[in-house]
Amino acid sequence: MTPQRQRVLDLFRERGSGCHLSAEEVHQQLSQQKLKVSLATVYRTLRLLADMGFLQELELTESGRRFELAVADHRDHHHIVCVRCGRTEEFESEPVLQAGAEASQRFGFELLESSLNVRGICSTCQASRS
Ligand SMILES: [Zn+2]
Ligand SMILES: [Zn+2]
Repeated sequence: MTPQRQRVLDLFRERGSGCHLSAEEVHQQLSQQKLKVSLATVYRTLRLLADMGFLQELELTESGRRFELAVADHRDHHHIVCVRCGRTEEFESEPVLQAGAEASQRFGFELLESSLNVRGICSTCQASRS
């Protein structure tokens, strides 16, 4: 792995699972660490790390994708996302997992994952909306 990819992956590992970063945020972090990389390179690196199975790519908002560490014991969780500021919170839901299991059984699919993405407007953004 190239030092640059390693650096990006370290960024996620330092924060641990349950951390959702956009390419812009990763880019910002890297520049704070005096690492000169273009945003396009950051995008490419993130996609690559996702392809390699190190990161999970989340399509949460129209405005951007976020990435998080791909960890085996942190798979079955769901996301609620603010469409304004991108704040992302996680939650667990047994009924969602159950619905996924039932659907895959009904249609004869091999179940890989069941996840629910909820979009909304967070309390901070609600308050600033006037
Ligand atoms: Zn997550
Ligand atoms: Zn918000």
